[in-house]
Amino acid sequence: MSIQRNGAILLGRNFVADGHYDRPFRVITHFHTDHIGEIGKSVRECLSVIGTRSTLRLLNVLGYNVPEDKSMPLPYGQKIEVEEERLFLERADHVIGSSQVVLETKGGTRIVYTGDFKSPGNRTPILPSDILVMEATYGHPNMRRPFKEQVISTFLDRVNNALAAGPIRVFGYHGKIQEAMAIMRKGGVDAPFVVGGKVAKFTEVAMQEGLNIDQILVDDSPEATEVLRSGWYVRFSHFNEFRSRRTNQVNFLLSGWEFDSPLKKVDEKSYVVAFSDHADFDELVEYVSASKPALLVTDGSRSKYARDLANYIRRTLGIRAVPMPI
Ligand SMILES: [Zn+2]
Repeated sequence: MSIQRNGAILLGRNFVADGHYDRPFRVITHFHTDHIGEIGKSVRECLSVIGTRSTLRLLNVLGYNVPEDKSMPLPYGQKIEVEEERLFLERADHVIGSSQVVLETKGGTRIVYTGDFKSPGNRTPILPSDILVMEATYGHPNMRRPFKEQVISTFLDRVNNALAAGPIRVFGYHGKIQEAMAIMRKGGVDAPFVVGGKVAKFTEVAMQEGLNIDQILVDDSPEATEVLRSGWYVRFSHFNEFRSRRTNQVNFLLSGWEFDSPLKKVDEKSYVVAFSDHADFDELVEYVSASKPALLVTDGSRSKYARDLANYIRRTLGIRAVPMPI
């Protein structure tokens, strides 16, 4: 295997993941921009684009066209075999539809590519590997969130307090918004959720794909108009709209890059929530330690901390580890 400069992860002889390369099969682990580079080229030049059904559907919602005759939805655990190489997808807890990729080579080597993930050993199964290719987003030893167990309860407390006084608005990226919705419903937040535009479309498909949330109102419906007048609701907007937030409501920004506290006040009415969808440094090390690869390759095409992580693993676990591309 190798990682190319454009982020393409070559697996065996027939597959490439998360970037374009001249191979028969392009695998997409999830819909984030840094994993779908040159998708148009792959659609034209590869035989098929492989991903979970959710990922392939959500790509289309986001405006990337993967025609039906080119897409190969692959349920978790289902193997495909090409020239004696076997590939399958495994669950990854990151965004809806995310997967890890396992490739068993002709010679019997098992290559695991984690894609992006969090919660290893819990909602992201740790897969045994000969060669492990791993994301390194929070690959620096400073990037630990010792408070990660408290993020959800702190967020829910603050949401419930704020809702008692008026409407609130939650800002985040596609996927993270829907995850927050599910967490809020599970945590007993029962105010109506109001969505619009692409967030609405994305939420609709996420619900069809198994996201378990109810009471979603689209902002131009009569029900939404009524709810907006009532003043008791949660509105969800894209991350980029946080810049133009208003102060007649309490605002929450869901952001990964926070290592100091679960919740940080940024102005009188606004909070940044340390709501990450990536493993922190300790969890990355935990994955490697339990997966027990003979070789770890850290993904330096998407993170500047791939070398730090590889060095740490080599020193502390005694496992051969290199960042790629070099
Ligand atoms: Zn991602």
